Amino acid sequence: MKTLVLKVNPKKPELEKIRIAAELLRKGKLVAFPTETVYGLGANAFDEQAVKKIFKAKGRPLDNPIIVHIYSLKQLYEIASKIPEEALLLAKRFWPGPLTIILPKKKSIPDVVTANLKTVAVRMPKHAVARALCKQAALPIAAPSANISGKPSPTSAKHVKEDFYGKIACIIDAGRTNIGLESTVVDLSSKRPVLLRPGGVTAEQLKKILTELEVHAVAKAEKSVSIAKSPGTKYRHYAPEAKLILVEGKKEKALAKAVELAEQHAISGLRTALLLIDVKKDMALENVVVKRFSTKLSAARHLFSALRELDEQGIEIIVVNGIDERGLGLAIMNRLRRACSERIRV
Ligand code: AMP
Ligand code: MG
Repeated sequence: MKTLVLKVNPKKPELEKIRIAAELLRKGKLVAFPTETVYGLGANAFDEQAVKKIFKAKGRPLDNPIIVHIYSLKQLYEIASKIPEEALLLAKRFWPGPLTIILPKKKSIPDVVTANLKTVAVRMPKHAVARALCKQAALPIAAPSANISGKPSPTSAKHVKEDFYGKIACIIDAGRTNIGLESTVVDLSSKRPVLLRPGGVTAEQLKKILTELEVHAVAKAEKSVSIAKSPGTKYRHYAPEAKLILVEGKKEKALAKAVELAEQHAISGLRTALLLIDVKKDMALENVVVKRFSTKLSAARHLFSALRELDEQGIEIIVVNGIDERGLGLAIMNRLRRACSERIRV
């Protein structure tokens, strides 16, 4: 298949290009587009056949439901059957933005989108390109992250091309995404609000509005628990080709152990990288590729692209230090715990 690549201005997307992509969506084709979190692989959420193409292209298990992206609150009423007061408060505070809200669904949304669940996950993205596309298509857009299932999520059009060039109708290229981790997912479909996936909006921010918020075990990825409510959480995710070892514990101890392990693996002849999260001081180690992020914000933004880059460099072992779960820390730890092949506690 020929893939049309449309290079657009991330702040002021050219309308004529967005219209081309919107028309492809309306015709049932797949279009990859940037959001402020990661790139999404979009289809018309009302079109069952189009949405099926997403599962096929990604190799996504059919029991993993897809988030629906909207442009206006009016569209929320077209797809959700019950909208509690809290949902409107959250929408007012965080939309457009990196927050996904789970609500009881209307029949308008085909079962394939929600993996037969009676609920639908909805988000209003903030990125100017995503907004323009939703507006021009005048449709809710079903879009998971635009990566082959299991791989690190795409934070640039280059990543999307690696996975989908020649396999989908269109890729909108607007450079790098800003937040770098997927949206926060909060379930408002039952009595008590539950945080299912931490992301760009932090648990602390949510608790200011949802005082009763429960942080589900899957949000921490502490155990390999899975729940029927959010089936996507049971799959290993975000994983690089390299073996990823996560060292958890008190900051200084975890850091020291991560350095020690990286040195050992390098000495044993393996191509080794050390990923340092929220570490202020520079570090150089012999025969170890060191990638350092000095803040949680920059770690979130660059984590997935760092994993892809290390794979490109042929790295065999990546050792990474765990961090505290405050603020963006929870989302970063969730991704690392789900991406790693080994977890060590010190
Ligand atoms: P991704 O598309 O890769 O960003 O993943 C979307 C996440 O949202 C997955 O963890 C899904 O399981 C979750 N999700 C989507 N729709 C629902 C829903 N109706 N109920 C619960 N979780 C959902
Ligand atoms: Mg994904």
